[in-house]
Amino acid sequence: MPSVFIKTYGCQMNERDSEQVARDLQDRGHTLVSHERDADVILLNTCSVREMAEKKAIGKMGMLRKLRREKPKLVLGYMGCMAQRLGENLQKDSPHVDLVVGTQKFHRVADYVEEALRKREEALHLEDTADLGSAIQPHIPIVDVYPEEGSQNTIRDHLPEKKKEATSFISIMQGCNMHCTFCIVPTTRGPERGRPIEGIVTEARTLVGRGIREVTLLGQIVNLYGRHEFPKVDGKSPFVQLLEALHEVEGLDRIRFTSPHPMGFRKDLVECFGRLPKLMEHVHLPLQSGSDRILKAMHRPYTADAYRKLVADLRTSRPGIAVSTDIIVGFPGETEEDYQATRDLAAEMEFDGAFIFRYSKRGDTPAAEMDGQLPEEVKEDRNQDLLSVVNASASLHLEACVGTRQEVLCEGPSRNDPARLSGRTRTNKIVIFEGGSRFHGQIFDVAITSASASTLYGDPAIHESDPFPA
Ligand code: SF4
Repeated sequence: MPSVFIKTYGCQMNERDSEQVARDLQDRGHTLVSHERDADVILLNTCSVREMAEKKAIGKMGMLRKLRREKPKLVLGYMGCMAQRLGENLQKDSPHVDLVVGTQKFHRVADYVEEALRKREEALHLEDTADLGSAIQPHIPIVDVYPEEGSQNTIRDHLPEKKKEATSFISIMQGCNMHCTFCIVPTTRGPERGRPIEGIVTEARTLVGRGIREVTLLGQIVNLYGRHEFPKVDGKSPFVQLLEALHEVEGLDRIRFTSPHPMGFRKDLVECFGRLPKLMEHVHLPLQSGSDRILKAMHRPYTADAYRKLVADLRTSRPGIAVSTDIIVGFPGETEEDYQATRDLAAEMEFDGAFIFRYSKRGDTPAAEMDGQLPEEVKEDRNQDLLSVVNASASLHLEACVGTRQEVLCEGPSRNDPARLSGRTRTNKIVIFEGGSRFHGQIFDVAITSASASTLYGDPAIHESDPFPA
């Protein structure tokens, strides 16, 4: 059977979607390969959040054209957000592409791959047998970027059997209705659509049966899950109901979620951190800006003070909770004063980590048309300055772990140093330590002995009598 290579750009949702496609292809007998040179089919799962991500994917597809010359049967495809956004227009930049499959059609990719393989075979056969005139066929890719009702329910039960993993993503919803003025997601992923709780819990049970101990729930605005489809029960939102249902799953030890919206943190969810011990002590809480004026222009319906209060409430509900964030610098019209408000709030919040983005125009978004677009140098200066603020607080949080014991779930060999093991604390900090395969998938305490700028180092062999408080 043909072999497939999938390259993923962008976020964890994309990683999760690629896993789904990989699983579907494996179920049909295709093999997955880790080098594009070995593949009969190459799929790029694309991202549209930043212009650079789109350029990278288009550039990559351009390079793959050379490989096609060596392997004329090679099938090349785009899927995901950029495929959704640009659809047939992608033919302009990538006239050799065979497949363009949008975000509501991941479950159809395996069918389309097989169809594209057949089409390439036929085209080559024609070239071999027909006279020159009829052999010049226009190249017509398979394009499917149409919405499909219920497509969110086609995402399930993805774990490739052979992988020995301890953690897994579960996609619980698709799309977003918030329409932040800088964001392309509502266009690429469509409106919010949640999966029913029962299906998600069944998937979690299946994953636990395969050795998974931690799940991360994924959605564009994950904590507003199900708000249009499912009713509140006893004042609890559908997302809180889902967390409670997952908390009951035996053998599941850890629950995380990303990415939430501050607006989805009502009292019922904040309280969950105080009463659901399987919910890990980490929340990724996108701030985007510390200036109320810019938040308004971004169409983010909260203020800096509301954000401040939310973080305080979360820290009261679960003392020691780690908080990370996303911030955009250089949004159109951002003055020095606006930026200082962001900088001050970031310093005050003492984040455990942050993704800082320089604003970049995305077509089809209101912010792209706004006055006051800033020069790249200003964005870059603010980016570097804010990074230094966030790195300082992140380092302090890491250093505070040195000399303590941290509960760690071992995820396997370290990516940078496969001779050692890697795991995560409950607060989502990476820990590297020595050990053998018996540690894989286990939860145990590690005595933290040192910290670098982004990582903890420790020793699981240090025993209770050693001077490491829990
Ligand atoms: S809430 Fe998130 S996904 Fe939705 S529009 Fe805003 S930034 Fe984009």
